[in-house]
Amino acid sequence: MSLLIRNATVITVDAQRRVMEDGAVFIEGDHIVDLGATDSLAEKYAGADTVVDARGKVVLPGFVSAHNHVGYAVFRGRAEDIGYAPTHRLYLPMSGIISNDERQVIGALAVTELLRGGVTTILEMEEDAELFAPFIETSGIRALIGVMVNDVNLEALALGQTVFDETIRDSQLEQALGLASRWHGRAGGRIQAVMAATGLSTSSPELLKGLRAGADDMSLRLSIHLGFGERDLVQDIHGMAQFDYAFAHGMLGPDVVAVHCFEVDDTEVETLAQSGTHLAHCPHMNQFRGEVAPIQAMRAKGMHVGLGIDNYFSDYFEVLRSCLASARIHAHDPQVLSAHEALELGTIHAARVLGLDHEIGSLEVGKKADLQMVDMHRLGLTPVNDPVATLVYHGHAKDVEMVMVNGEVVVTGGAVQTADENELLSQAGVAADAAWQRFAQRYGDYVAPAPV
Ligand SMILES: [Zn+2]
Repeated sequence: MSLLIRNATVITVDAQRRVMEDGAVFIEGDHIVDLGATDSLAEKYAGADTVVDARGKVVLPGFVSAHNHVGYAVFRGRAEDIGYAPTHRLYLPMSGIISNDERQVIGALAVTELLRGGVTTILEMEEDAELFAPFIETSGIRALIGVMVNDVNLEALALGQTVFDETIRDSQLEQALGLASRWHGRAGGRIQAVMAATGLSTSSPELLKGLRAGADDMSLRLSIHLGFGERDLVQDIHGMAQFDYAFAHGMLGPDVVAVHCFEVDDTEVETLAQSGTHLAHCPHMNQFRGEVAPIQAMRAKGMHVGLGIDNYFSDYFEVLRSCLASARIHAHDPQVLSAHEALELGTIHAARVLGLDHEIGSLEVGKKADLQMVDMHRLGLTPVNDPVATLVYHGHAKDVEMVMVNGEVVVTGGAVQTADENELLSQAGVAADAAWQRFAQRYGDYVAPAPV
């Protein structure tokens, strides 16, 4: 199967930051075979099975989201205004209430939304993440999937006590390793596994050691929320500074994707950078918590930073803008980062964070055909002037017309081809209503009481 996209504006996001007017991309099987001027490629590949005329359209790499919890779309509209409380007052309580079927359909809706908006790769970590694996496989999205483990007794936690539980630990590790053994490398390598933990305050040393051993055995990446408001808690529970505890148990290093890291001082930034730890920067989520990671300082020290969506949201263009806005507010400088740099953070740099930059993240010969096409002849996007700046500052998920992952067209004409959008919308609405009803019956409100 071969496909020629011609007459497009092609934003390559390669090392030279090439943007080609009247460009063409030739794809055969799952990868990009050629890139160049339409004139020469049209003649060379006149026999392509499919030809897409992309006049007035921009073709760019698919977005890479280095951090997601797709099932957390259930919290949409319920968590954004309640500050730091979500983990203890929504996420953990809900995990004991929502059924697998309910979570599955809500996660499927979120994956569908991501594809629809040009996101071609995600790192998905969540409790029971294996629930989402079959849909991820059929949806066509590229993914690293991991069970997000913790080993605290939830009943004690509700009373404000941290008690680590060996039985929970064993079953969590078994689940995480089981997912990895069943799913790593599936769908021709489009699906990979990751070892993931919620955070340091909910992980015993033994749990983290178990995760590290699993990752080393299978050469997997690890991912964990770090520096996200746990500093005092980690000190209290483990008697160690947060990054010392992380380092001592294998949670810092060149194969680790640390998430958030907004609660960090200069010394901790140095520790992160020296360890080679990567950052999944989630500015869209964190700005609503009043926080921003100091990514300029991190990048200056050589840390690899890529963007992630995190929860509830699915419009990646918003993440690009939040990244720019929050960095500029943080620095009180309107010229910190450029549109092109933001786009790189959302594509090639995020791919590097996931260890996939040799395969995806830019449009280059030999790379996998993971790309999106945006029709610029739309309200809000015209005049185009500079295609990169116009897309980054003014684009929306709904403007994406075509998406391809691994050479397969998964969105065309703005419609996801691998799932029934309307069916999922209905089912996810019903599932969320039912889960919230049970939540309110149990806790008397849509938020559980604060731990005492
Ligand atoms: Zn998260």
